[in-house]
Amino acid sequence: MDLAYFSMSYECNEKCIFCPCSENARDIQPLSLDEMKRSVDIIVAKGPLDIAVISGGEPTLKKEFLDFAAYLVGKNIRIGLLSNSLKFASKRYLDQLLAITGPGMLEVTTAFHSHLAGKHDRLTCQPNSFHKSLQGVLNVVDAGVKVSVKYNLINYTYRELPDYIDWVYQTFPDKVNLILCNIDLTGIALKNKELTSVSFADSAPLLEQALDKVIEYQNEGRSRNVRVFDTPLCTLDPYYWDFVESGAGTNVSALRIPSDSPEKDRLYLDVESDSGTLFEPCDRCEVRDICPGTWRKTGEYFGNEIFQPIEDTL
Ligand code: SF4
Repeated sequence: MDLAYFSMSYECNEKCIFCPCSENARDIQPLSLDEMKRSVDIIVAKGPLDIAVISGGEPTLKKEFLDFAAYLVGKNIRIGLLSNSLKFASKRYLDQLLAITGPGMLEVTTAFHSHLAGKHDRLTCQPNSFHKSLQGVLNVVDAGVKVSVKYNLINYTYRELPDYIDWVYQTFPDKVNLILCNIDLTGIALKNKELTSVSFADSAPLLEQALDKVIEYQNEGRSRNVRVFDTPLCTLDPYYWDFVESGAGTNVSALRIPSDSPEKDRLYLDVESDSGTLFEPCDRCEVRDICPGTWRKTGEYFGNEIFQPIEDTL
């Protein structure tokens, strides 16, 4: 699957404490609609593009977002929207987007940072964001759009992850995917490391308890797709490895995001990933081909000693 990653602007209606953007990102000049369209043209001239992942900031804040969505759909490119879904609490706005995409050309991923409204709102620094995002996501689900709910493993909330699993199963129909992931420990997230940083050794037992709950639900006949991202296989018991997304098969073919650095303010066609099995111990690991590794900055923060390459065991 070929995927391109876009951000028009870092403007956002939340101020999440684990945002990987730099503190000055919101001051960076947004990209124009013409610049975005031009990038799409260059990408598709090189080969087919299945999906454009649109992030931000919060993409729905840009008035040009709907025009960009129409441009992509006109070229038969699906949209993977990374959004906090606050704007979808308004059915009017959602209807405007769906009039362009229909349910079939749109996928929405929204992070809920806790199942406890107060904690979620504290992490987003936005009062009432939990209830508004929940309303937004439920509106999107009702409209027949493919939706993923995402949870970021951070120090402030990871101990409650098993309870979060129950909340997801009680709140969303099984057609809503669940993504559990480790964060990119850089930018604002790194600045707030007291609240954000949790070692893989500390979080793994809670992640495994959470996956035990998922298995219990599956044994009761529940069918939700649950995936674990950015989590090295060597930090989890092999019993849980089937949940871990390797990332293999997804080719990120292009990247266009705003930058205040003139040499970086361009379309990247050969994208070097910020995450993967990028660490020295991975060089001698037998499961490297099926392992997602983790974020480069996260791995560097914790150091190579967290990785336990799998040697001579297979
Ligand atoms: S050593 Fe590297 S490749 Fe091996 S399991 Fe750990 S992160 Fe994955």
